[in-house]
Amino acid sequence: MKTELTPSNYYDPPTNQKTKSDKEFEKELEKARKKGEEWARENGRILRENIKMIAREEAKKEIKKLGIPSRYISPIIKSKLFRKQKGKCAVCKQELEKNFHIDHIFPYSKKFEYKNGTNNINEERNLRLLCKECNWVKGNNLTEDNLK
Ligand SMILES: [Zn+2]
Repeated sequence: MKTELTPSNYYDPPTNQKTKSDKEFEKELEKARKKGEEWARENGRILRENIKMIAREEAKKEIKKLGIPSRYISPIIKSKLFRKQKGKCAVCKQELEKNFHIDHIFPYSKKFEYKNGTNNINEERNLRLLCKECNWVKGNNLTEDNLK
């Protein structure tokens, strides 16, 4: 890197600087290079952050436009389900621990085909709480029959 920084091969210096000694000139060049690098680092970071932010905003807009429901389930619905299921897993009936899973009965991945009730895949009637094990089984595309 350092070898590329000689005045002759880096860039053509302004005429008033040509009178300076090579050492002085190289010092200034080094300073300028460092400044440039700092600028690039800082602006590169800002640019990258902006790109990420823009991408996120664009994705949000797109989701809104398409009317794709998010996976977000409100805590109110969660506690309603918990009461409805008496704190037990909807499949195996074991007591749910703190880290239960919310399961879409009609799968979230087919959200556009969901045509029940309010057309909202996240409506209460399409949700149930599962324990870790049952959720794992469902997630791995096994049916309850496979378990018996
Ligand atoms: Zn279970």
